[in-house]
Amino acid sequence: MTDGIHFTGAYQPAPLPNLIPGSWYIGFACKRCRQHFAILNALTAAGTLDLTGPASFTATCPACNHSSDYQASDLVQFQAAQGGSSSTA
Ligand SMILES: [Zn+2]
Repeated sequence: MTDGIHFTGAYQPAPLPNLIPGSWYIGFACKRCRQHFAILNALTAAGTLDLTGPASFTATCPACNHSSDYQASDLVQFQAAQGGSSSTA
């Protein structure tokens, strides 16, 4: 069974401020600096979660302060490599 999250609507998610290294998150790769930032805690490891839906997200990268629009298909699961609000992994 594949877990899924279906997103509908327009979101303005606030990036999580304190990532825990080694924990899994759902977020975006900044379109400018490519750092990952998280908007959700991921309950499972990568590869089991299906992130879909016609949603749009407007989020500001906590690393470089670049605000951009993202789609559900831009959502990525990542395992934080560093603490803080963004991660290179
Ligand atoms: Zn950035």
